Amino acid sequence: MAELFYDADTDLSIIQGRKVAVLGYGSQGHAHAQNLRDSGVDVRIGLHEGSKSRAKAEEDGFRVLTPAEATAEADVVMILVPDPIQGRVYEESVKDNLKDGDAVFFGHGFNIRFGFIKPAANVDVCMVAPKGPGHLVRRQYEEGRGVPVIVAVEQDATGKAFDLALSYAAGIGGTRAGAIKTTFTEETETDLFGEQAVLCGGTSALVKAGFETLVEAGYQPEIAYFECLHELKLIVDLMYEGGLEKMRWSISETAEWGDYKSGPRIITDATKAEMKKILAEIQDGSFANTWMEEYNSGLKKYNEYKKADEESTLATTGAKLRKLMSWVDSEA
Ligand code: NDP
Ligand code: MG
Ligand code: MG
Repeated sequence: MAELFYDADTDLSIIQGRKVAVLGYGSQGHAHAQNLRDSGVDVRIGLHEGSKSRAKAEEDGFRVLTPAEATAEADVVMILVPDPIQGRVYEESVKDNLKDGDAVFFGHGFNIRFGFIKPAANVDVCMVAPKGPGHLVRRQYEEGRGVPVIVAVEQDATGKAFDLALSYAAGIGGTRAGAIKTTFTEETETDLFGEQAVLCGGTSALVKAGFETLVEAGYQPEIAYFECLHELKLIVDLMYEGGLEKMRWSISETAEWGDYKSGPRIITDATKAEMKKILAEIQDGSFANTWMEEYNSGLKKYNEYKKADEESTLATTGAKLRKLMSWVDSEA
């Protein structure tokens, strides 16, 4: 069973006694910084020259320094810049400004797990990763709630790294909902697998194939869009509330029979074998290396894929239909 921690298991005064630098002020950065500050923690922001987020951080009342200055001044550094550039920011601004007993924090384990960042032995290395987007992390905190977090320690130089990580998790409101103990390896590998095989990659491919099958058979794209994409949300909401059971309780018996009979013909043993290959490429680091090569060489393929999907019939049909349903984009 997973080890769970709640507010009562944490000591907020630990993080209140430290100086925190949050590097980056995007989705996660703004939420961590504001929640910590409201929890009585001393926070400064580190942003690069010319950062678009700088004005927002200053408007929100933060002192904004360079990443190097912020790191030098603080003794806990949370790195919330985009994953592919964390290695560079660490080399250029963080590494030489860490002192014995400082702590480096991450919101995702990618750079530690695949060795793009290798902290020296004299610092704690921790992760506090909210299981939700940054804007929800902030909103839930303001409403007295929290987004669950997962917490890990990769390197415990002080012998107190886990208590520090839990205290940070409490500071952002995470332990109101619950913190699960994990490792950098488990978090990184399951996160990458989930987004590739199921949540993003798997779902996008399923929607596209279903839509194309109907349109190629001569059905109207608008009908195909509703059937294969729009209705997906309603189905997923039911799964979220009560698992596959609640979804199947709600749909018709005909739909349920079709689910049992046809689903396994779509996601076959061959699909699962491919999932295992995808997981193996995550575990052996080849996915991470390929992605870093793509990023560092200017995102050529990435932009090709993006453009092709943005110009597809699925995309143009959806854009047209959503315009007629003014309430749709505010539901997210
Ligand atoms: P965003 O892209 O939203 O924000 C990145 C921030 O970093 C921006 O403020 C950006 O500034 C700033 N930045 C860019 N380059 C530098 C630099 N060289 N030095 C300092 N700051 C820089 O990132 P996310 O919040 O999405 O992701 C941050 C981390 O959180 C990642 O590790 C991610 O995996 C993790 N995470 C993200 C989640 C999410 O909800 N998005 C969920 C859980 C974890 P500007 O825009 O002005 O250039
Ligand atoms: Mg992810
Ligand atoms: Mg139907």
